[in-house]
Amino acid sequence: MEDCIFCKIRKGEIPSQKVYEDDAMMIIKDIDPKAKNHFLCIPKNHFKLLSEMTEEDAAQLARCFKTIPALEKELGLEGGYRLIVNQGDNAGQSVFHLHIHILSGQKMGWTPA
Ligand code: 5GP
Ligand code: ZN
Repeated sequence: MEDCIFCKIRKGEIPSQKVYEDDAMMIIKDIDPKAKNHFLCIPKNHFKLLSEMTEEDAAQLARCFKTIPALEKELGLEGGYRLIVNQGDNAGQSVFHLHIHILSGQKMGWTPA
């Protein structure tokens, strides 16, 4: 947890471009965007995998899924968007604090590679 980039961003120890924050989550711009529009929705609780979620973690994650569509206009998601949660090695998870990628701003293909 101490070495976690997203916990450090939450505490303001690492700068980020924050576009939304409340008691359950923050939404920031991805530092290395994989689509024209790429945000990360990060629950405030630190947990790595869906399989490790507590009930409280699950409630925060539910809040994230409820809040993202409420921000469609603000985040420029009106044309459609894709949510991705990378889990573990095969998915290439690189930050071990669960987060939801929000990709938009362009048409997207459908290949796992
Ligand atoms: P993952 O590979 O774990 O699903 O996604 C981690 C994401 O976090 C990557 O898209 C990466 O670009 C992003 N990221 C890594 N470090 C930072 C950072 O310091 N600031 C921001 N804004 N994004 C980061
Ligand atoms: Zn963390």
